Amino acid sequence: MVDLRGQYFKIRSEIDAAINKVINSSAFINGPEVASFQRNLESFQNIGHAITCGNGTDALQIALMALETEPGDEVITTPFTFIATVEAIALLGLKPVFADVHPGSFNIDSTAVEQAITSRTRVILPVHLYGQCADMDAVCGLAQKHGLRVIEDAAQALGSEYTFKDGKVKKAGTMGDIGCTSFFPSKNLGCFGDGGAMFTGLPEVGEKLRSITLHGSKVKYYHDMIGVNSRLDTLQAAILDVKLKYLEKYNLSRSKAAGYYDAALGDIDRLQIPARSGQSTHIYHAYTLKTAPADRDSLRDFLKQRGVPTMVYYPVPMHLQKAYSHYGYREGDFPVAEELCRSVLSIPMHTELQEDQLEYICNTIREYYKG
Ligand SMILES: *Cc1c(COP(=O)(O)O)cnc(C)c1O
Repeated sequence: MVDLRGQYFKIRSEIDAAINKVINSSAFINGPEVASFQRNLESFQNIGHAITCGNGTDALQIALMALETEPGDEVITTPFTFIATVEAIALLGLKPVFADVHPGSFNIDSTAVEQAITSRTRVILPVHLYGQCADMDAVCGLAQKHGLRVIEDAAQALGSEYTFKDGKVKKAGTMGDIGCTSFFPSKNLGCFGDGGAMFTGLPEVGEKLRSITLHGSKVKYYHDMIGVNSRLDTLQAAILDVKLKYLEKYNLSRSKAAGYYDAALGDIDRLQIPARSGQSTHIYHAYTLKTAPADRDSLRDFLKQRGVPTMVYYPVPMHLQKAYSHYGYREGDFPVAEELCRSVLSIPMHTELQEDQLEYICNTIREYYKG
């Protein structure tokens, strides 16, 4: 599904030098590479404040803490995402309120978001799934109209760009009050372990985010609020600072591979290639096909037997996860998300895909549909 080793070998000397520099300085916590990476992230994202932290899940939790949510407050999000989105909400005693997704984009449906708003709603938390931005014109419009905050889960979308109806172009993670991302190794910008970051254009929110990551303190040993310990290691920052320079190139390689897939698979009747939004670029964190539910598992087996790995992102929607059953959601509550869980299949997508690999993968898929 990914080829992190191949990617590393192409920039090995640069990465190794960055790692050795950190080890020689031994500034393992909050070394100068962390500050440097934050500055470079700010300029990449064109945003005032980038604050790094331990991982993408922490980023979401810290973002919710910084907006001073209180137990019982409702957060509207998608049922079709990675568990971290919902986990962060639940851990703080907030209530995840789901809005079903759009059958084309698989991102949160703004009509459903509007219907889910109540007097307890505080935050809308869209996820830019697979690398394509949610309908942020609608999300930001609803937030403004109802006095809500917006936290973006941009863990899969770093580098993706959204064009608003008024022509303004913004990067994923910079459109809401706070944007969150992850540097998990397989993300588009991945480190060699765990890492995450938050973005905001609001200086007072930025200060709060930074303080929460440091046990709620601005001055060491003086704690103004309850915080957490969540930091990006200096080693990871040094690695990411090297890789950030290649992120656009990496996203372009993914996009090229996606173009190959689109052209080779687009005409198969029982298969739907990823829909492209007119307003967002797609950075293809995942290349996800929609099959007929009856085909999905047999196609998966067929590919596996022929050496093609696949993944199902995600097999169970959030509202039907056992750990979250106490919220009282039922099968049938979010039919689009439920149907996607039975029909999506992601095929290999990374920066090192070669034409012969793409050709083999596509031929094997076509063979399944011929048989
Ligand atoms: C990866 C991911 C996260 C969590 O990131 P971690 O760094 O693994 O904690 C959150 N949301 C989404 C949508 C993700 O894909």
